[in-house]
Amino acid sequence: MLPDPAGQGRPLVDRFHRRITYLRLSVTDRCDLRCSYCMPERMTFLPKKDVLSLEELHDLAAGFIARGVTRIRITGGEPLVRRDILDLFAMLGRRVGHDLAELTLTTNGTQLASHAEALAKAGVRRINVSLDTLDRAKFARLTRRDSLPQVLEGIAAAKAAGIAVKLNVVALKGVNEAELPDLIAWGHANGHDVTLIEVMPLGDVEEERLDQYLPLSTVRAALETRWTLTDSAYATGGPSRYVDIAETGGRLGFITPHTNNFCAGCNRLRVTATGQLYPCLGGGEQVDLRSALRSDTPEANLAAALDEALRIKPEKHHFRMDARGADPATVRHMSMTGG
Ligand code: SAM
Ligand code: SF4
Repeated sequence: MLPDPAGQGRPLVDRFHRRITYLRLSVTDRCDLRCSYCMPERMTFLPKKDVLSLEELHDLAAGFIARGVTRIRITGGEPLVRRDILDLFAMLGRRVGHDLAELTLTTNGTQLASHAEALAKAGVRRINVSLDTLDRAKFARLTRRDSLPQVLEGIAAAKAAGIAVKLNVVALKGVNEAELPDLIAWGHANGHDVTLIEVMPLGDVEEERLDQYLPLSTVRAALETRWTLTDSAYATGGPSRYVDIAETGGRLGFITPHTNNFCAGCNRLRVTATGQLYPCLGGGEQVDLRSALRSDTPEANLAAALDEALRIKPEKHHFRMDARGADPATVRHMSMTGG
C-alpha cells in the first residue's frame, strides 16, 4: 500500500479557494438496470482490464484521505454488482471515525437486501438509493428491468440494519411527474429523506433530453399548492437545497443544476473505475490517475496529478438545458463518472 501517495499531506484547494474534502469513487461502470435517462439499452461497458483493482481503488482512496478528504461515496454504475466490493468497504470502513468521517454509497438497491448487514458492519451509516417510481410497470419501463420488488426489499433491509436511506428521485416530465407527491409522502412516512434531481444531459441516450427535463422550480410550485414548504438550514456541503414539509414531517432536497447553479460551494472530485479523475461532472477536464498509480514513482506522479486536477477544476459546469434545447457538454454517461 502507498503510505501517502499524494505526497506531503497538503490540503486539496483549487484556484477558486474551494477546499476538496469529498471524493466520489466509481468502482464499476456496469449496471444491472438500464435507466432510460442514464444509458441506452445496448450500453457498451469498459473492458475489465481497464478497471482499477480493489487494491488500487483502496490506495487511491488512501491518497485522497492523506490530502484531507474526509468523506467518500462509492458509486458507479451499480457498485454492488462488482464482485468482492464488500472487501473495499471493509478496508475503508476501518478508517471511519479515525481519518475518515464518512463512508457511504449510492445504489439502485437491487442487491441491497443481501449486502445491507455487511455494509452496516463495515461502518456505512447512511446511503442513497435511487427510486424514481413506486409503480412496478412504470419502474420496469423506466429501468428496462422488472426489479422494483428487490429494490423495496433492499431499502427495508438497509433500514433494518440501521442504515439511514435517502431516496434519490430524478424528476421526469410526464413519467413520474404526477406521482412525485405520493413518492415523497411514501418516503417520509417510512423515515427517508427524499431528494429530487433535474435530469442532466450526460451522454447519449435513446430519448430526447428535453422531453425528459422537468424543472424543479415547476415541481416545487406544484408541491406548494398542496403542502407547506419551509426552507431549511440543513446542508450536507453538497448541491442539495432542503425544505421541511410540515404535513409529512420530512425533509425534501432539490438538486437543480439548471435552474440554480450550485458550483460555488463544490467540495468534491470524482474518479471513475478506470482511475480517470474528473474535476467537474459536467466538464471535459480530466486527469489520468491510473497511469500515475501504475508508474515507477506513484507517490510523486499522484501528487502531480492531483495538483493538476486542482489547477483545471472549472469554476462552473458547462452543461445547459433550457428552452433552446439540451447542450450535451460531455459525452460521458453518468454511469461512467458516477452520480
Ligand atoms: N447505480 C446507482 C444508482 O442508480 O443509484 C449509482 C450510480 S447512478 C449513475 C447515480 C445517480 O445518478 C442516480 O441517482 C441516478 O438517478 C442519477 N442519474 C443518472 N443519470 C442521470 C442524468 N442524466 N441526469 C440526472 N441524474 C442522473
Ligand atoms: Fe444503473 Fe444507476 Fe444508471 Fe440506473 S442510474 S442505469 S441504476 S447506473
